[in-house]
Amino acid sequence: MNLFNYNNEWLEVREGIRKMCRKYPESYWRELDKDRKYPAKFVKEITDTGYLSVLIPKKYGGANLPLRAASIILEEIHRSGGNGAACHAQMYIMGSLLKYGSEKLKSNFLPKISKGTLRLQAFGVTEPTSGTDTLSIKTTAIKKNNKFLINGQKVWTSRAEHSDLILLLARTSNNLEKPRNNLSLFLIDMRPYLNKQIKIRPIRTMINHSSTEVFFDNLEVEADCLIGETGKGFNYILDGMNAERILIAAECVGDSKYFIDRAIQYANERKVFGRPIGKNQAIQFPISNAYAKLRAAELMVAEACKLYDSEKKCGEEANLSKLLAAEASWSAAEAAMQTFGGFAFSEEYDVERKFRETRLYQIAPVSTNMILTYISHKVLGMPRSY
Ligand SMILES: Cc1cc2nc3c(=O)[nH]c(=O)nc-3n(C[C@H](O)[C@H](O)[C@H](O)COP(=O)(O)OP(=O)(O)OC[C@H]3O[C@@H](n4cnc5c(N)ncnc54)[C@H](O)[C@@H]3O)c2cc1C
Repeated sequence: MNLFNYNNEWLEVREGIRKMCRKYPESYWRELDKDRKYPAKFVKEITDTGYLSVLIPKKYGGANLPLRAASIILEEIHRSGGNGAACHAQMYIMGSLLKYGSEKLKSNFLPKISKGTLRLQAFGVTEPTSGTDTLSIKTTAIKKNNKFLINGQKVWTSRAEHSDLILLLARTSNNLEKPRNNLSLFLIDMRPYLNKQIKIRPIRTMINHSSTEVFFDNLEVEADCLIGETGKGFNYILDGMNAERILIAAECVGDSKYFIDRAIQYANERKVFGRPIGKNQAIQFPISNAYAKLRAAELMVAEACKLYDSEKKCGEEANLSKLLAAEASWSAAEAAMQTFGGFAFSEEYDVERKFRETRLYQIAPVSTNMILTYISHKVLGMPRSY
């Protein structure tokens, strides 16, 4: 049965990326996962084919497509059994640079990013003592003449070892009354400083995510690395986070489809007591339930994209998309695990790998709790809890 063929938006893009993903079957991702290796070949191809630069304007070498097209690309990567985390940050980091970066930064970097000669994959916000509470970050950027002196440490900076540039959030002042105005955003070319003023240390995790810690020790950068104005970095990243939430939600939609697909196939094939396990409603219902959640989440992702692409407010829809899609993919993952029984635990079937991978989205890039607080405070008008 041909499932999920109800959506014809951006069909050419969907079919194109689907075709590319066929060259990277589950065995490709499984082998990399074993050794926590970066999918360099896949990232090179998605860059060379232009799918990774779809959000970059044409004058800088990109395709200038809307976020909806980018969401479909990431969805299809996940649906195929792959993982967009190897490169998705380039898509959502782009927003802050495009919207607030100087023309000099854009014309310097964007054409090279489009061509693939420069990698923008690292986003340094989280610190060991500041995760959810971003305003409390301690990494400082002190202005001296025409330079900024940066000191501090980031943690969980994904892909830093596979990126030339880092989008970095740092503290430029300490105004206790207006804490939102204390942070600034920088785009830094790390290459000249690696293993000197910038040190990167990998962190091994339960998924293949190229996680690292990044240390800044008296790093001196030109003032023109600053994105937009000093003290506005927090607002810039909040703005960019809508795109991030929508794109991650699209990945969860892809994961949901992957799990549902695999679960149905296995449920129909596997015979226990002389009949397919899929005949049991106890096997069918969790899969059908996950399918219902997927369809609802997918509609919300499309709605969020529509608002984002028409430059309308989309905070509520971006957050709802992320919440619903992460719940849908987790339900589908659970249903697939249960359907596969003992074989779910075998690496060979990939369900366990995808199960580990999709669990992340309950926590990062923003935890379910923080989305619920956003909805409680900002959408429903209830009192702030922190
Ligand atoms: C694999 C991975 C990749 C990541 N990639 C990046 C990256 O590239 N760049 C980057 O900057 N960061 C990255 N992160 C960090 C991620 O964004 C944070 O882990 C996340 O924001 C949570 O922060 P924390 O881990 O410090 O949790 P904490 O802030 O310590 O929170 C712990 C728990 O308490 C809950 N909690 C805290 N305060 C409240 C409250 N007021 N109400 C309700 N619940 C609350 C949180 O929701 C969470 O469940 C990554 C993390 C992981 C695991």
